[in-house]
Amino acid sequence: MMDCLFCKIVAGEIPSDQVHADDEVIAFRDIAPRAPTHVLVIPRRHIPDAHALTDADGDLLAKLFGVARKVADDAGLSEGYRVVTNVGSDAGQTVFHLHLHLLGGRPMAWPPG
Ligand code: 5GP
Ligand code: ZN
Repeated sequence: MMDCLFCKIVAGEIPSDQVHADDEVIAFRDIAPRAPTHVLVIPRRHIPDAHALTDADGDLLAKLFGVARKVADDAGLSEGYRVVTNVGSDAGQTVFHLHLHLLGGRPMAWPPG
């Protein structure tokens, strides 16, 4: 996807502060953090959002959450953290390449706005 921001980050065309990289998944710090720890966990493969996932993506989905767990452990988020994925414009999605927001380091309100 030539015009996808996160595909450009995957390709290294746009710099990012990466905290994890493997053959399928990368994780990097959000440019506008909403919590002391705010990391985006994304597949290298372009998938627009969680609504586009299929049964064939089960292993990838487990891997995304596994990387989120590792990042949370590395950040010392022993009191908890939130994993969020926005789907579509009503939910506030602005980058249409699947990503998990990993937010932690402060108490979180519920429900989200
Ligand atoms: P969404 O609104 O789609 O759920 O989340 C997109 C996230 O990407 C936002 O939290 C936004 O701050 C972040 N973001 C947008 N552009 C960049 C960028 O160039 N680099 C990084 N690291 N994060 C970005
Ligand atoms: Zn993409």
